[in-house]
Amino acid sequence: MTIRSFHPQVRTLMGPGPADVHPRILEALSRPTIGHLDPQFVAMMEELKELLRYAFRTQNPLTMPVSAPGSAGMETCFANLVEPGDKVIVCINGVFGGRMKENVARTGGTAVVVSDPWGRAVDPQKLEDTLKAHPDARLVAFVHAETSTGARSDAKTLIEIAHAHDCLTIVDTVTSLGGCPVEVDAWEADAVYAGTQKCLSCTPGLAPISFHERALEKVRNRKTKIQSWFLDLNLVMSYWGSNQQRSYHHTAPINALYGLHEALLLLQEEGIEQAWARHERNHLALRAGLEVMGLSFIVPESERLPQMNTVSIPEGIEDAAVRSRLLHQYNLEIGAGLGELAGKVWRIGLMGYSSRPENVLFCISALGSVLNDLGAKVDLNEALAQAHAALGQA
Ligand SMILES: *Cc1c(COP(=O)(O)O)cnc(C)c1O
Repeated sequence: MTIRSFHPQVRTLMGPGPADVHPRILEALSRPTIGHLDPQFVAMMEELKELLRYAFRTQNPLTMPVSAPGSAGMETCFANLVEPGDKVIVCINGVFGGRMKENVARTGGTAVVVSDPWGRAVDPQKLEDTLKAHPDARLVAFVHAETSTGARSDAKTLIEIAHAHDCLTIVDTVTSLGGCPVEVDAWEADAVYAGTQKCLSCTPGLAPISFHERALEKVRNRKTKIQSWFLDLNLVMSYWGSNQQRSYHHTAPINALYGLHEALLLLQEEGIEQAWARHERNHLALRAGLEVMGLSFIVPESERLPQMNTVSIPEGIEDAAVRSRLLHQYNLEIGAGLGELAGKVWRIGLMGYSSRPENVLFCISALGSVLNDLGAKVDLNEALAQAHAALGQA
């Protein structure tokens, strides 16, 4: 067998991430690699931190990308903020909350779970009740945008409740950053992490994080050493910190950081409020078409994420057959259900550069056509008419 250069077929990515990568970002990735301590590179890192503060809506000096995917952002928060024996309240309403609980266990903490149904937001009253029952808890963790279900939780309220009980907060904003309001300073969030391949339209592999001084104080005053050398913020800051004496910790993923710089520049050029509004407009148009096709959302309207549209699979339609036809006939990827929703739902992402009117119309056409091929009776003309009408009103 002769192995040749790898040239993948281009797809339209409308799943739970990665999303379509903007061509300007792909071009940025191919620029010349320079040293990670080169003064040019160090100047770019400062711009990158500034652009990340814009995206997170924060002034936190410790705002930087961890050199690994979103999951490493999650681990950075737990590894630095949980000490053996700490009691941590973890809100679980989908897959990613479950991973937070696993992180607590692996960092030696004790997790107390606040459980909500998949497809619903975290219930603030349940958090309040749990904190009252566990006055020794010092940390609350929750997922702002649960990608496994498409539900958005009320981050501001959950953080307020946590602070009223003397707890710091860890907030997962992997799917929300860039797609709907994330207000790190206005929420008074203590530690947040995100990813690059969802609403930032970038390639996977980096995890932007932001830590408030309150959280850093806890990191500095730990009684025990952080078990992870790679994720120990005290060490990482020798490279990413603001002092002029940057020293080697690990080799930064240089070209990947060019990509993130370009992605954040695109966000700033569009304007973050405009990006949020675009995600909302395209979601409403997709929804108009999907509802005509009889596909219903599993999340109540007031708790829905515009970037993650989770709909029930119609009776008698086989999940894998539909997704396979979409991929092979239309080069269109949509997401399957995860965990307890496997086989029951599709997750249609409208994230970042994927959130465009032409993708909305393409997805409705392709999905409607495949459903009709498989025997569902879908009024494709009416679905497209409703989507067009929604886009026209915007
Ligand atoms: C995608 C995702 C993650 C994990 O990010 P990776 O880049 O896949 O490691 C964590 N939390 C949420 C809510 C996500 O959607």
